[in-house]
Amino acid sequence: MAVRSAVIIGGGITGALTARELSLAGWKVTVLEAKHVGAGSSSRTAAGIRQQFSTPATVRGMRYSVGWYRRFTEEIEDGTCPIIQNGYLFLHEAPARWASALAVVAVQRAAGLAEVEALEGEELWRRFPWVDRERCIGGTFCPTDGFLLPHLVYNEGMRRARALGAEVVQSAPVLSAERTGDRVTAVHTPKGVFEADLFLDCTNAWSRRTGRILGAVELPVDPLKRYLWFLARGGSMTAETLGTLPLTIAPTGVYCRPENAESLLIGKLHATPPEVAFTYEDQDRVEPEFAPTSGTDAVPWALWAELAEFLPAVGEFDGFSAVTSGFYGTTPDHNPFLDYDPEIRNLIRLVGFSGHGVMFGPFTAWVARHLAEAGKRIATVPLDGHDLDVSNFHIGRTYDSHEQLVI
Ligand SMILES: Cc1cc2nc3c(=O)[nH]c(=O)nc-3n(C[C@H](O)[C@H](O)[C@H](O)COP(=O)(O)OP(=O)(O)OC[C@H]3O[C@@H](n4cnc5c(N)ncnc54)[C@H](O)[C@@H]3O)c2cc1C
Repeated sequence: MAVRSAVIIGGGITGALTARELSLAGWKVTVLEAKHVGAGSSSRTAAGIRQQFSTPATVRGMRYSVGWYRRFTEEIEDGTCPIIQNGYLFLHEAPARWASALAVVAVQRAAGLAEVEALEGEELWRRFPWVDRERCIGGTFCPTDGFLLPHLVYNEGMRRARALGAEVVQSAPVLSAERTGDRVTAVHTPKGVFEADLFLDCTNAWSRRTGRILGAVELPVDPLKRYLWFLARGGSMTAETLGTLPLTIAPTGVYCRPENAESLLIGKLHATPPEVAFTYEDQDRVEPEFAPTSGTDAVPWALWAELAEFLPAVGEFDGFSAVTSGFYGTTPDHNPFLDYDPEIRNLIRLVGFSGHGVMFGPFTAWVARHLAEAGKRIATVPLDGHDLDVSNFHIGRTYDSHEQLVI
């Protein structure tokens, strides 16, 4: 059988893990990255990984991703395991929201997430004594959730792809494409022209632009600015407690996780217009209202106070030590697109991760491999002994099954 060739556009976690997966399946892979590996959101992320979703296909998909990251050193054949399984704890204060959370737990258990726990009253405080007793009535906790060391994922993923024969070309932005009918035949970069049988768009927050460059459908993927702030440990919380905190989401949506035993990462979604023409520099631009150094009226100070209402010991921390930022590529229902482009028959779009692209990485690559092998849209992928319905990730879906657990 002739060797089939694939060009992957974008060298983040999605591109790296997809390059490895297609190389394993026998494809001759070339990755074209506009800047350098990890130049996008993959190096600016909170990197949480959870299976606590409301969409059953995502619960199963993230279960696959957790298992894959646990096997990382075998899958990558080297390296350090990048997953830290401190768990995810969603806290609740309103009875109606707690009732909804219990309904979602039932969905998660039905989707195979046996270890998710619904903790109420004394049991919650016994397990997590740093949670404020007056403010929280319950919490859902999954001990196998956690967070990742993202630089290991894209660097080791790309190294393994190279070892399997993939070529990785940096400083190679795709600027234009050649078409024959409904197929792309080649893409043009400053480093040359690259022909292939199959093309994969792994540019996430850039994917509207990539769509225009390739003459593909412009997908509803909005680049939305997101910030992360880092607080230095202080007061009564010990380094041991901080280092083992789960990724914790307060009822108001502000979340935190240990960056290490001395530093706490915090974040929260905020309303912001899509920045469709953002530059690479814009990824790291910190608007004054989001800069801790702007004074205590700035957003991060309010978020710190908000978090301390639910985790009082965090209120005793020393203060902000850093801020970072980047872009989500957000879709209307917060689920990604993992599908063939409707206009271009040999283009797979793997974009729109909406704050979930790191955890989706292994699952995305697995779906990509099955899409590539099928040569057309697929309804299911084999996953852990079952056929998983992937229609929630199709292009052109109706967006009526909106993911409810969005951070
Ligand atoms: C603040 C923040 C917090 C987050 N928290 C989480 C979290 O807790 N858990 C989680 O799973 N996800 C989280 N995310 C989202 C996650 O980081 C992204 O979904 C993920 O990194 C996307 O990876 P990617 O490889 O698809 O895209 P990227 O890493 O953005 O890579 C895309 C690449 O495409 C390249 N590119 C663009 N255009 C072209 C072109 N024309 N030619 C060639 N190359 C091109 C870019 O240079 C870039 O390197 C967060 C994101 C942010 C910003």
